[in-house]
Amino acid sequence: MLLFKKVKDLQKYITAAKSKGSSVGFVPTMGALHAGHLSLVEKAAKECNIVVCSIFVNPAQFNDPKDLEKYPRTEAADIEMLGFSPCDILFMPDVKEVYPRDLNLELDIDFGSLIEVMEGRFRKGHFDGMAMVVKRLLDIVNPDHLYMGQKDFQQFSIVQHLLSQTGIKIQLIMGETIREPDGLAMSSRNTRLTPTLRKMAHFIYEALLQAKDKMQDSSPPEIEKWGMNELSLPNFKPEYFEIVDGRTLQQITDFKRHDFVVACVATWLGEVRLIDNIIMKAPAGI
Ligand code: AMP
Repeated sequence: MLLFKKVKDLQKYITAAKSKGSSVGFVPTMGALHAGHLSLVEKAAKECNIVVCSIFVNPAQFNDPKDLEKYPRTEAADIEMLGFSPCDILFMPDVKEVYPRDLNLELDIDFGSLIEVMEGRFRKGHFDGMAMVVKRLLDIVNPDHLYMGQKDFQQFSIVQHLLSQTGIKIQLIMGETIREPDGLAMSSRNTRLTPTLRKMAHFIYEALLQAKDKMQDSSPPEIEKWGMNELSLPNFKPEYFEIVDGRTLQQITDFKRHDFVVACVATWLGEVRLIDNIIMKAPAGI
């Protein structure tokens, strides 16, 4: 595995590889890597000649400076983990490389309500920062395929919108959510849970599974209400439990009128904010 820290060194390598006909798969991450990230690297390796993984903790997408400060950073372990994976290139730029002073990176894209609902309601500005860094990283890496996780379903939808609005010819591919044995979605933030709270975290995915089971005899609003109630446990502070159309991310009232339905949840567990989702109904091909 090669490690690049400078944009120009990475671009020189990728341009040469692409000129020889290699396809490039890209997995952007913020580090503190786990098996969820690695599953995306492995998926990319099956479908592309060269896999690029980036590690960049993007200050622009943290609305809360304390959250940025506390974000786990495990550089040495990440490099080792990727070294044993099919990752070919690790790109670890510093902030000045990603955001040089003379570059205007503001995006002129109307994301409409996609960025206002769910996470957008509780993390103001988060998706503007996320979209900006994804666009910048895509400009730098110039991949053929981009791999992102279902775990961050709203993020995935926004990036899909970004690609369609800008006309960038990159195929966006979704990787399934990788979970701990008790069902908790793997996340870099899980390491910040205390052992006691970690033992309670399985309730989140269990609520999503039960919500899916309730589809036959309850309406979406009834299930949402049930979900918020179900997660109102000691040490939990659920922010939303929403059943949305998988394309518009708007809450729905009737399962029959939608062919793509996702239940999304965000809750605090102690000091840690966790998100998860489950696809309740999927159109063919998803
Ligand atoms: P992050 O480092 O949290 O920004 O995540 C980098 C990428 O990994 C994003 O596309 C996430 O959706 C994806 N990801 C995070 N957690 C998981 C997981 N448990 N399973 C699969 N993909 C994940």
